[in-house]
Amino acid sequence: MREIAGSPRVLLRRLREMMAEAAEPQARLDRIVREIASNMVAEVCSLYVLRADSVLELYATEGLNPSSVHLAQLRLGQGLVGTIAASARALNLQDAQNHPAFTYLPETGEEIYHSFLGVPVLRAGRTLGVLVVQNKTKRHYGDDEVEALETTAMVIAEMIATGDLRRLTRPGMELDLSRPVTIDGLSFNEGVGLGHVVLHEPRIVVTNLFNEDVDTELRRLDTALGSLRVSIDDMLSRRDVASEGEHRAVLEAYRMFAHDRGWVRRLEEAVRNGLTAEAAVEKVQSDMRARMMHMTDPYMRDRMNDFDDLGNRLLRQLMGHGPENLAATLPRDAIVVSRSMGAADLLDYPRDKLRGLVLEDAAATSHVVIVARAIGIPVTGQAKGAVSMAENGDPIIVDGDEGRVHLRPQPDVEAAFAEKARFRARRQELYRELRSRPSVSRDGVKVELMMNAGLAVDLPQLGDAGAAGIGLFRTELQFMVAATFPRAQAQETLYRQVLEAAGDKPVTFRTIDIGGDKVLPYFRGSEKEENPALGWRAIRLTLDRPALLRTQFRALLKAAGGRELRVMLPMVTEVSEIRRAREIIDREVRHLARFGHLLPTSLAIGAMVEVPSLLFQLDELMREVDFVSIGSNDLFQFMTATDRGNGTVASRFDPLSAPFLRALKSVLDAGIRAGTPVTLCGELASRPISAMALIGLGFRSISMSAAAIGPVKAMLVDLPVEALTAQMGLILGDGGATHDARAMLRTFAAEHEIPL
Ligand code: PEP
Ligand code: MG
Repeated sequence: MREIAGSPRVLLRRLREMMAEAAEPQARLDRIVREIASNMVAEVCSLYVLRADSVLELYATEGLNPSSVHLAQLRLGQGLVGTIAASARALNLQDAQNHPAFTYLPETGEEIYHSFLGVPVLRAGRTLGVLVVQNKTKRHYGDDEVEALETTAMVIAEMIATGDLRRLTRPGMELDLSRPVTIDGLSFNEGVGLGHVVLHEPRIVVTNLFNEDVDTELRRLDTALGSLRVSIDDMLSRRDVASEGEHRAVLEAYRMFAHDRGWVRRLEEAVRNGLTAEAAVEKVQSDMRARMMHMTDPYMRDRMNDFDDLGNRLLRQLMGHGPENLAATLPRDAIVVSRSMGAADLLDYPRDKLRGLVLEDAAATSHVVIVARAIGIPVTGQAKGAVSMAENGDPIIVDGDEGRVHLRPQPDVEAAFAEKARFRARRQELYRELRSRPSVSRDGVKVELMMNAGLAVDLPQLGDAGAAGIGLFRTELQFMVAATFPRAQAQETLYRQVLEAAGDKPVTFRTIDIGGDKVLPYFRGSEKEENPALGWRAIRLTLDRPALLRTQFRALLKAAGGRELRVMLPMVTEVSEIRRAREIIDREVRHLARFGHLLPTSLAIGAMVEVPSLLFQLDELMREVDFVSIGSNDLFQFMTATDRGNGTVASRFDPLSAPFLRALKSVLDAGIRAGTPVTLCGELASRPISAMALIGLGFRSISMSAAAIGPVKAMLVDLPVEALTAQMGLILGDGGATHDARAMLRTFAAEHEIPL
């Protein structure tokens, strides 16, 4: 094969020779840019390297004023070079000066160059610099030239990463490799975790870049692709994914991608240009990641993620790595960093070593987040770029309170968070001490503090937190973390486990509350809903699909054989829905009795008050049920017409204000009139200040997240309930709607030295 000057392959071979020669880093760089310029017949070739202070510094040039090296600078986002670095995408321009981002740096004397090709220097999706060629004429750079420059950029990235270029940096000017980074995301679970990065899918570092022989390398690539396809087929034929479901759909997509001609062609092209098979995978993956960082369409991001995962699998095939045995090498303070992951994946990490979780793509309602909350670790979500910026073992802080991540934090930041974590630990100690104290106010009023749960992993917290029982068991969580509808037996097993863990403490099971934001990937409604929160969900859905309800009732009745069973219905809008559900459960009771099953000793049916229409049929409601529990999350969302998941409006109105508090009081009063117990199990019970307001209103049983029991109990034991009740009268009374109830409650707490 005749090799043409200007081909990526020739360039790569020259680079390889240069890398093998002994040379000072600056001299080597100077030769590299000269070689690129001559190979690509360009008048200019320049390398800019990104420093930790977000400045791109000219490190080497052929063609521009040599005295501007290490002097000419652009900020990230400034000029064409800054734009490439910020967007991690190449720019190929025939007339650069007319580009809106063009900035003229007088010291470089570059105004005479029209055409411009610049590519980001990327490593694992992170931009380390920009490599540019320029020509005086209005020239169009072809695809192979873009490819050649990108491949060269990859070699330079390796020089930066392996420390070759660090010596060129002036003291105090760090390169952009290990700088502290703060990523703003969203708070998915509160708390602070300090520790070290564990990439859920550790990156494999490719150090062998240049191939010896194209054909051998193409064969290696082909063999690895073959094994990859076989391994996906194997996974697909496994029994646990053989049926329908999310898992299967993902694997089907993988299979499709593993055969994707475009992907394979790009890999082969990179090998033909002189890279090893693994370097080719890394290159294609790097381009893909860079593009992914700027993709806003969630569907497209998912597809790109699939390709990225596939790339990782292929790298493992090529480099002989099996799936990593993470547990064995896990640091004591692991903070798992991942784009997204399955709920079961998180449970594979030993709990005692997990300090936090950082996710790029998952939502607050993702299954993995639900599990993370259940095991009580701080979670920051939507932390864009975390995976590509973090390296295994990097120090990291997850600030789940603020929804932030501090990667490689500065010592003062680390010290501040360590103090915060110590403070929390001391408070936890205090809460543990409170566990054995009766749940009684300063003036002797007993208040039952129950916990909310939904998964088997929650159960140890029942004892740890000192809860009086489970006031809300969200049965839909089992459905949400499963790949298909949990079978009757699986449901019964979980319910039995819950009841056994609870011992003689009461448990209230809520029938599945799916729909709205609680989506089951394997079950979709018949049509797309404009407003799923107001749509076909919870009791509406289960009354229309009675088989679901029947199966669940039967599982509950069997699991609770020989003891009390408490069942609660979600999203009831009118009393008739309770009657219909009761008919179904009564039929199940008769069925089980006929077949001689051991039945519960008593059966209590309750309703959640979450839809405001119930506020206007309270007396009828109270006659219909054995107990009522207010779902303040939904009741508040529907009363104030503010979507609870929409950050812009979710905190616009305060539940601690007279209108909402009056609504709660009206439910309590109706309960007293009918002798029907009323409790509350929304988030409102989980904050000491709002729990205090609830107790002031007259609630004597509230259910909250397990982590809230300590702080709420600490508030309760110092609370003078009688004085508070009088204060609540002022808040609720005439003119209450114009008062700042929250401020009044704070003042009350301060005056009575109540910890909030
Ligand atoms: C509520 O709405 O307050 C409630 C407890 O139910 P969920 O948060 O599960 O909708
Ligand atoms: Mg609800």
